[in-house]
Amino acid sequence: MKVQRNDKCPCGSEKKYKKCCYLDPAKNAEITRAASMSATWAELVELLSKPMEVYRVKVILIRMGLRGMSEEISRTFEIEGNHTLFNLHMDIQYAFDWDNDHLFSFYFGGKLFDTENEYSCSPVGDHFVSDMGAPSKSAEKTQIRDLGLAAGSTFLYLFDYGDELVHEVVVEKIRDRDDGDKKLPTVVSEIGTPPPQYGEIE
Ligand SMILES: [Zn+2]
Repeated sequence: MKVQRNDKCPCGSEKKYKKCCYLDPAKNAEITRAASMSATWAELVELLSKPMEVYRVKVILIRMGLRGMSEEISRTFEIEGNHTLFNLHMDIQYAFDWDNDHLFSFYFGGKLFDTENEYSCSPVGDHFVSDMGAPSKSAEKTQIRDLGLAAGSTFLYLFDYGDELVHEVVVEKIRDRDDGDKKLPTVVSEIGTPPPQYGEIE
């Protein structure tokens, strides 16, 4: 369904939509998304009343080029469901201290370079379409909550198609956001020190 500008705002404010959430880009995006998933007004209101989900994801560096890791190097994040894959890319870049200077992809079929299940972007969030296989989807336009993930789901993050920094992402837990939550995203665990991105100088 679609909310019309003159409808009551589905947030429950009793104001007209066009004078309420319509004016706030973030709230408007949320309402547009919920409306597209709802058949009735009641469904829409219910969907909007649900708390945001919080995903706990562990990102494990599994190899750099041909070199595997001899010990665990991981960072665990809590992120909200409306976080995009591009946002997650930025979290990983910061937490692993990588230089955000290369293309990246997430793969949801368990295989690298599997274009059917690929979400990609440039370092600044522009979607690009490779000339190999099916075109990838945009990491910047895809939110975590729209990927059908459950606790135990895993996917891959490949940063830099040349040097191949390969990470496995494990969804450890999904819960509702609550009032005790600090500002998210947040890093909840750090194990090991990531090696230098470009190798050590001998
Ligand atoms: Zn409103």
